Amino acid sequence: MEDSRTEAAARGDGKYLGKACRVCGCEMRYTVNGNCVDCSAKHAKAYRQRTAELLRRVKQQRASA
Ligand SMILES: [Zn+2]
Repeated sequence: MEDSRTEAAARGDGKYLGKACRVCGCEMRYTVNGNCVDCSAKHAKAYRQRTAELLRRVKQQRASA
């Protein structure tokens, strides 16, 4: 699995086909960090939503203070 990643890096590819993800079974991974593409997208979305929610709450508190 490390080989296909090294090959992808040598080609300059941002993604490569590696070991199937334990969580979603997707085999597409980022060359840079080896993370599953699908799971990374899900985490990034969840993180954005958490941050947006936190921001909303802080703004509401400030508005009522
Ligand atoms: Zn995954």
